[in-house]
Amino acid sequence: NDKATPAQNIKEIIAMFLGIGLMVVIGCDEQLIIASAPGRVNLIGEHTDYSKGFVFPIALPLRTVLVGYPNNSDDIKAVSLVVNGKVEFNVSEIQTGDPFWGDYFKGVVAEFQKKTGKHVPGFNAVFHSNVPLGGGVSSSASMEVATATFLEALTKINLDPTEKALLCQAAEHNYPKNPCGIMDQFISVHGKADHALLIDCQDESSKLVNMPSSSVCFFVINSNVKHKLSGENNPFAERQKSCFKAAEICGAKFLRNVTLEDLEKNRDNMDAVTFNRGLHGVSEDKRTLEAAEVLVKGDFKRFGELMNASHDSLRDLFEVSCPEVDELVEIARKTKGVYGSRITGGGFGGCTVTLIEKDAIQSLKNAVNANYSKTATFFDAPASDGAKIH
Ligand code: ADP
Ligand code: MG
Repeated sequence: NDKATPAQNIKEIIAMFLGIGLMVVIGCDEQLIIASAPGRVNLIGEHTDYSKGFVFPIALPLRTVLVGYPNNSDDIKAVSLVVNGKVEFNVSEIQTGDPFWGDYFKGVVAEFQKKTGKHVPGFNAVFHSNVPLGGGVSSSASMEVATATFLEALTKINLDPTEKALLCQAAEHNYPKNPCGIMDQFISVHGKADHALLIDCQDESSKLVNMPSSSVCFFVINSNVKHKLSGENNPFAERQKSCFKAAEICGAKFLRNVTLEDLEKNRDNMDAVTFNRGLHGVSEDKRTLEAAEVLVKGDFKRFGELMNASHDSLRDLFEVSCPEVDELVEIARKTKGVYGSRITGGGFGGCTVTLIEKDAIQSLKNAVNANYSKTATFFDAPASDGAKIH
């Protein structure tokens, strides 16, 4: 169609992916909406967000994009170019179901309607993403936040950014049933180029920390071992329960409000596993606050030591690492020019993050390619911007 505008052409492509008639598309002359949101890498502060502690992530240049247009009905239709299955539902009847990935999307539509008290108009849309799925860099939050940002443009209702992150978190809790903390959605909304974000998960405030521009950078390596953290009785939920239990035995609701002395005093009142989980949570908060301080000063040596201590604690006390990720961390730590390396994200596979001299990156890649027992993939991790409309 030579006379079609670029927007009409894209609508036709979307209609093709959805397997619906092109005439339907040409009938709608409203604007095409393009929303995107980033994945993230957490520099330090792991498994602390749900204990209302501190986390210190950056938004990655990897993004999920949602492109779509209103379809003059009450039906929402979407496909994803990175997973199979079509999602189709009526705005007044949103239920979990097949395909599973649709729950992340439907959850956001449902929570958006709950928050605004209005039905959203029907639309046709396509997801695309270069955030690895289940790789520990939060494809799920990038998908949720892209969806919420899309809905803001569609309905012309702008949410407070933190409310938007909370709405997306509620969607992940209530639909795919993953009891995640607030970090992933929060950084996907609030991320800023050249900055890391120190998030206080208790009062939901945050502080941008300028990344010193210098000869060092953060580098992400995907172990390509996949985890599954959603659904009932998953190891992620089990870790959370231990943290809540340790806090409760110490007379607090969350580990954020427990000191090392409190834990030590109550050591005999809890089993060793609960104590170890608690010890990780309490000491990780201390490390995270110190890490944000030393990054500002450009003290990379200390930042690296804190990353190493974080990994060792996640491996030995919190038990969320796995042999492949430990291998990657060991290879990195043996490489000249590396300050520190740790697992990042929920664990049980996924990615590592390494603080490294930029001119040592190639030798790290060579060492991983030569020594890692599986095949890894590499990502540069310059701090990038949060969600936006294009
Ligand atoms: P992570 O967030 O670390 O990548 P999760 O297990 O939390 O891992 O979320 C991954 C799930 O999110 C995928 O299995 C899929 O169901 C859903 N998902 C994420 N991105 C997309 C996408 N672009 N299209 C469809 N589903 C997606
Ligand atoms: Mg996720």
